[in-house]
Amino acid sequence: MSKITRIEIVDFRFEVDNIAQMGGGQRLGYSKGAKLPVTKNAIVIETDDGLRGEYVTNLVASPATRGEMAMLAPLLIGRDHSEREEIFDDLKREIRQWSGLGQGPLDIALWDLEGKALGASISRLLGGYRARLPAYASTYLGDDAGGLDSPEAYEAFAEECYALGYRAFKIHGWNDGDAKREVANVLHCAAALEGRMILMLDACCQLRRFSDALYVGRACDEAGYFWYEDPMRDSGRSAHLHRKLRQFLSTPILITEYVRGLEPKADIIVAEATDYLRVNPEYDQGITGAIKTAHLAEAFGLDCEVHACGPAHRHVMSAMRNSNFYEVALVGPDMPNMVAPVYACGYSDQLNCIGSDGTVPVPAGPGLGVTYDWDFIAHHSVDRQVFAA
Ligand SMILES: [Mg+2]
Repeated sequence: MSKITRIEIVDFRFEVDNIAQMGGGQRLGYSKGAKLPVTKNAIVIETDDGLRGEYVTNLVASPATRGEMAMLAPLLIGRDHSEREEIFDDLKREIRQWSGLGQGPLDIALWDLEGKALGASISRLLGGYRARLPAYASTYLGDDAGGLDSPEAYEAFAEECYALGYRAFKIHGWNDGDAKREVANVLHCAAALEGRMILMLDACCQLRRFSDALYVGRACDEAGYFWYEDPMRDSGRSAHLHRKLRQFLSTPILITEYVRGLEPKADIIVAEATDYLRVNPEYDQGITGAIKTAHLAEAFGLDCEVHACGPAHRHVMSAMRNSNFYEVALVGPDMPNMVAPVYACGYSDQLNCIGSDGTVPVPAGPGLGVTYDWDFIAHHSVDRQVFAA
């Protein structure tokens, strides 16, 4: 038994080229020459026998999640690092008053630690059997600034992805509530790429009316989209709304990216409100929670689609038979993915991470199987917090 003695969280900041805020909220899109400051968190968990687990956050990074991590991290001090099931259960109860997002990164670092302790990849610990994963290119939002600013621009970018090896492509449209603009893009891309690429649409919870969700969904039906994700402004959480929408549409619905917790996801399935379940080890209480979610979907005969990207996501998906595509998100023409540039081992989630066969590899080394560039993290750090016995 080894005890957790120290946890360090380093917040670091770097710039991403050609991306800027578009209007209010978190709408990010193309802006030539812009430099967007991005903050992520690097977590290190250490034990009294010299073990070390690491994780660098991706889409879960936010001041809110960072606050939750600071609330939960002290509760790990003194505990046996390998008792992840009990830790999962305890942290889940502790964080019930808040979103729970802060639990995920800590759990992932514990899995990295266990994999390194045993000399095995997380995929192997999970019984993983897929060394490579089919992937899709998942676009940035549409803009009016020379990036993804027209159906023709989406088509051109899809062709660029096709040439790289992608055989699936997900559109995040303008998502400004203009259903007509979304429909024109849905139909244009389908006609241009018919028979060559599988297409999905993510409306990012931006359609204001049920009639708009129905109108866009019927375009997905007409064009044979693979799934229709988070249509409406309920933030993808209403069982009644999506069950009703499913009664009108033939395109499979995908929600639960914003439904937190295993049991609420089960409730959505039982209510027949979604066709695909969503899972993200960062959002869904870590690798422990993600595997439970995958098995929950499996028990109902559903596929479970992995949201966003990162080494933890790849390990989880390698052990899921009921998952179709790995999401390389977000990408666009001349628009880098905002993942932290912290990999000293060649690992990448940039657009060109895909092989010509349309797949990405699962890291094979111990734990997460990646080597973080701690010099880069230290050089770009803006804050640091240590929890110790
Ligand atoms: Mg989504």
